[in-house]
Amino acid sequence: MTHSLWEDRSFRGQPDLVVVGGGLTGLFTALHTRRKDASRKVLVLERGPHPAGASVKNVGFACFGSPGQLLYDLDTEGEDVALGRVEERWRGLNELRQTLGDTAIGFEPVGGYEVFRKDDPMHAKVAERLSELNGKLRAIFGMDVFSWVDDRIGELGLNAGHLAWNALEGAVDSGMLMHALLHRVQGEGADVRFNAAVEGWEEQPHGVELHLADGTRIKAGRAVIATNGYARDLVPSTDIVPGRGQVVLTSEVPGLALKGTFHMREGFYYFRHFHGRVVLGGARHLDIAGETTMAEGTTPLIQGDLERMLREVIIPGKDFRIERRWSGIMGFRAHGGPAVVEHLSPHVVLAAGLGGIGVAVGIRVGRRAADLVG
Ligand SMILES: Cc1cc2nc3c(=O)[nH]c(=O)nc-3n(C[C@H](O)[C@H](O)[C@H](O)COP(=O)(O)OP(=O)(O)OC[C@H]3O[C@@H](n4cnc5c(N)ncnc54)[C@H](O)[C@@H]3O)c2cc1C
Repeated sequence: MTHSLWEDRSFRGQPDLVVVGGGLTGLFTALHTRRKDASRKVLVLERGPHPAGASVKNVGFACFGSPGQLLYDLDTEGEDVALGRVEERWRGLNELRQTLGDTAIGFEPVGGYEVFRKDDPMHAKVAERLSELNGKLRAIFGMDVFSWVDDRIGELGLNAGHLAWNALEGAVDSGMLMHALLHRVQGEGADVRFNAAVEGWEEQPHGVELHLADGTRIKAGRAVIATNGYARDLVPSTDIVPGRGQVVLTSEVPGLALKGTFHMREGFYYFRHFHGRVVLGGARHLDIAGETTMAEGTTPLIQGDLERMLREVIIPGKDFRIERRWSGIMGFRAHGGPAVVEHLSPHVVLAAGLGGIGVAVGIRVGRRAADLVG
């Protein structure tokens, strides 16, 4: 086959940068690279027919962590790491909203709650340390972030004992967000190719060669691997482990009063309203070994537990059925800690391991990857 001058100049020339993975991290890496230097050819290779990873499977919390989660992080990771991560999430959230705009991402400033059941032993621990936590966070937010709002339990329709609240979090429509981001990336001149699975890569003297599942090879100056929970496929030595999250969506619930984003059990359950329905995810802790997988799917154990949680705590006494079930794959550092942005070889960078709160940080991980890859 022959190629025209125009094909070669605009569609076939060697990219300066290939980004593998078209989720939040990969698309923001592409956006930041183009913004730094609009003369650079950037190509994103995404194996799905559209962005197909956690960025479109999540439940759309625009959050930085509930009190129970943050106290756990403080105790296990130390103050510098834990507070640094909160700051990163808070900055990321603001940058995300500014970059794409609240309307385009379907942002709703509905606040974030942590729910404690009546007999929940976590409540006493959090209650004892809430002002200590607020004190530590004041340097980031300039205010007391969390307060108790037990008086709202009835009006929200929850069967719970205690409720902590912060006004700074919200919800996004993850489909709208990714659509807006994709549009922006393409508008800034990066190419995005779908149905383009990368099976391997090879460091070369002056760049990198990517091996695609369809047998083609693409040479590029540099590459960023932004495949998050799937990172091990291309980087077997990484410490990033996959973690599946299962989700249920209810039918429309008559008289639903629930509004906001809600965490329970240090973030192991998370739920929100969505157009008169409830979206609920979590319960991974019931089968950590089984959910350490890159395979999408749902299991009776976890789905049953999520349904029980709906009936007993979230919408007790309400009539509903499960309208949809899905799952997505997160990427966690094996021993905790923030996302990895590091060189794998002179021309290849890995940017992955965003964990369970990635919506807020994808924009900043993408910027770090763009800076590091140069
Ligand atoms: C069920 C669930 C609920 C969540 N809820 C929230 C929430 O409410 N709030 C929050 O902040 N975070 C949440 N998260 C986490 C958040 O969604 C992720 O941290 C974030 O989306 C990660 O973005 P990413 O771009 O790094 O990864 P991904 O979005 O997973 O992107 C990786 C991309 O790489 C592609 N890919 C993989 N392998 C290849 C290959 N070999 N070749 C080419 N392409 C490849 C995939 O198809 C995918 O599109 C949730 C995650 C899950 C699974």
